[in-house]
Amino acid sequence: MAAEHAALQPALNEAMHEVLDTAAFIQGPAVGQFAAELGEYLGGVHIIPCANGTDALTLALMSLELPAGAEIIIPAFTYVATLEAAALLGLRPVLVDALPDTFNIDPAAVEAAITPRTGAIVAVHLFGQCADLEALRAISQHYGVALIEDNAQAIGATFQFHSGEMAFAGAVGEIGTTSFFPSKNLGALGDGGALLTRDATRAALLQQLANHGQSRKYYHQRIGLNSRLDTLQAALLRVKLRQLPANTATRQAVAARYDAALAGVSSISTPARDERSSHVFHQYTIQVEEAGRRDELQLFLKKCGVPTMIYYPLPVHAQPAYAYLGYRAGQFPVAERLCGAVLSLPIHPLLTVEQQEYIIGCVGAFFGN
Ligand SMILES: *Cc1c(COP(=O)(O)O)cnc(C)c1O
Repeated sequence: MAAEHAALQPALNEAMHEVLDTAAFIQGPAVGQFAAELGEYLGGVHIIPCANGTDALTLALMSLELPAGAEIIIPAFTYVATLEAAALLGLRPVLVDALPDTFNIDPAAVEAAITPRTGAIVAVHLFGQCADLEALRAISQHYGVALIEDNAQAIGATFQFHSGEMAFAGAVGEIGTTSFFPSKNLGALGDGGALLTRDATRAALLQQLANHGQSRKYYHQRIGLNSRLDTLQAALLRVKLRQLPANTATRQAVAARYDAALAGVSSISTPARDERSSHVFHQYTIQVEEAGRRDELQLFLKKCGVPTMIYYPLPVHAQPAYAYLGYRAGQFPVAERLCGAVLSLPIHPLLTVEQQEYIIGCVGAFFGN
């Protein structure tokens, strides 16, 4: 990340100094400018900036005005924030398993989990590839249940429907949420997040909820949050947004080289592609099937100086904080297996071909190729 910022340093400095000069640190002009530019990039949607991706999920659920205890269908294989937002609001997370190839939520399991108390479905576009939006949108419409897309990892990804319709990730359901955490594909230099919607009325509601439930200062229509994107982060994100399409293309090129080089290593599987979705490769995540070998590979790569990550080592239903939901080990076999098999290899936009060849060589050496 330091190297990425070195190349952008003059533009970032300029943006930062402009904010320092105007001293409009909260709700300065850059916030609206960034929202307009991101909305345009994502096909003309309303963007409501907020403090982080977790707040975006919280605000999305708040805007649905669901009764206490309403059920929120959530993938068992995700980052904890997806669950946390629902739990904090007194809603009940209902977990469903992942698909073994794409890691994304299983639409058949979603449909099976629908009850009269279901308030929303939260799909996560994990690692940069869209969940099955065709099936999820159909379920959402058939049962009249809102679809929320947690798009923290797939900003800029697109999905092609059977009809030929194309849509950006986050812009298909009632509400999309995203995060500008520094390591995300569109990362700020601190925390940040946003909501997306195609509906102007919902956009106004979300805006109000993110600002203490007020549309007019000191007149509070609803109980809201104080959740804002700093002007400084918005100004920096405007610079980073211009870089996003090129960075996405570079990530895709890195992924294609990994695919080609690792196809012959029989002990691992490379990430499956859903041909309806573009993949923006927030992570390049392989699976190591044989029990215990994933951890050995990670240790071996660490000794070679190659940093890797495990997203995620423990499924959400096995986290102590969520024991109250009453799930048991074995209930989500795919998510549980994935937690023991996944390994994310380096894929940042500045990874050189030489560095990547070294990484591929190390993986091959481990498996004796
Ligand atoms: C990063 C992330 C979030 C949370 O975003 P923050 O900005 O860190 O609050 C939520 N969901 C998913 C899937 C994420 O990857």
